[in-house]
Amino acid sequence: MSKGASLYGTYNRIPLRFERGEGVWLVDEDGNRYLDFAAGIAVNSLGHAHPHLVEALKDQADKLWHVSNLYEIPGQSRLGDRLTEATFADRAFFTNSGAEALECAIKTARRYHYVNGDGARVDIITIEGAFHGRTLATIAAGGQEKYLEGFGPKAPGFKQVPFADLDAMKEAVDEQTAAILVEPLQGEGGIRELSVEWLKNLRALCDDHGVLLLLDEVQCGVGRTGRLFAHEWAGITPDIMAVAKGIGGGFPFGVCLATEEAAKGMTPGTHGTTYGGNPLAMSVGNAVLDVILEEGFLQHVRDVGLVFAQGLAAIADQYPDVIEEVRGTGLMLGVRCKCPNIDLLVAMRDQQLLGAPAGDNVVRLLPPLMTTAEEAREGLSRLEAAAADVSARSG
Ligand SMILES: *Cc1c(COP(=O)(O)O)cnc(C)c1O
Repeated sequence: MSKGASLYGTYNRIPLRFERGEGVWLVDEDGNRYLDFAAGIAVNSLGHAHPHLVEALKDQADKLWHVSNLYEIPGQSRLGDRLTEATFADRAFFTNSGAEALECAIKTARRYHYVNGDGARVDIITIEGAFHGRTLATIAAGGQEKYLEGFGPKAPGFKQVPFADLDAMKEAVDEQTAAILVEPLQGEGGIRELSVEWLKNLRALCDDHGVLLLLDEVQCGVGRTGRLFAHEWAGITPDIMAVAKGIGGGFPFGVCLATEEAAKGMTPGTHGTTYGGNPLAMSVGNAVLDVILEEGFLQHVRDVGLVFAQGLAAIADQYPDVIEEVRGTGLMLGVRCKCPNIDLLVAMRDQQLLGAPAGDNVVRLLPPLMTTAEEAREGLSRLEAAAADVSARSG
């Protein structure tokens, strides 16, 4: 069978071929069952083949797949209303991906200053180690050389400051600053968290200088940290926020959320998309929200998050030669490794447990949000076996 030699060589793929999924489990072509704590990198927020999502998609598939944004799309209005009701936002723009939600956020911020007669404000300040996507603008926003190299001139108007360095951030703000863009909890950067205090100071800095605060909650949003959005832990609100991954539960879409004021420049004709917010995507998005907004669901995420936090701390205690630090909030977790993170990931795979690599030598655990305490303990015991394995081999 074809191994994909015809495809772009952009991915170093793991030789696993999954055929179906059931809840937190993935089943390969030979019937082997893997506990999926990568969850499509925080995408499969409700696991695989969740009955409510499957039903919503099938229902919609029988009726209507796509119409243009030339027309009203009731599922889109409904999801926009529900998202704005549940958040700081007044306005929503639906996209196909996280990077496009960020493109919309960046355009919205620049356009805001433009319609205010302050068109010189175009710069977006971001944080080193950030990940905002792979489009030409979002690789410039992330600022990581490994993603910029060889792709021509870096899109202008983006500058980075070191992680969690408020003085550097203050120094970077000037009359050309349109916005500051951060992930409250960095995913790909290695589950690195900005403190509540730091985020409050950042909000104040933005307010003092007429700068918009943009949050990238593509990975940490939609219940992942045990609040609907991660910034809620800090008691602040952004002006604009990019969301994707978990909101679609596996159906590819994203959304840019903004206050009325921040979105005021986005008038007819200023932005658009062919597929964004189409009926299929919106049917799934509404179904995901049905579950995540259910009474007690976010408490469940926090409770199971604690099971993980305690279990991971115990494993780190037992194998300090493998795990040097446990990070994260809710079900957005990481272990910083003493060994190469890839070694632990391979040993986990031998235990039929899936995680995802991240920067800073971290292994990410991003279990589906409906993972039960029992499933968490199953995963922890597999992780412990993997750590024992790595420890024995290196010792
Ligand atoms: C995944 C991710 C993106 C990019 O999303 P895509 O859907 O891959 O374009 C942007 N920001 C963060 C924080 C992400 O984790």
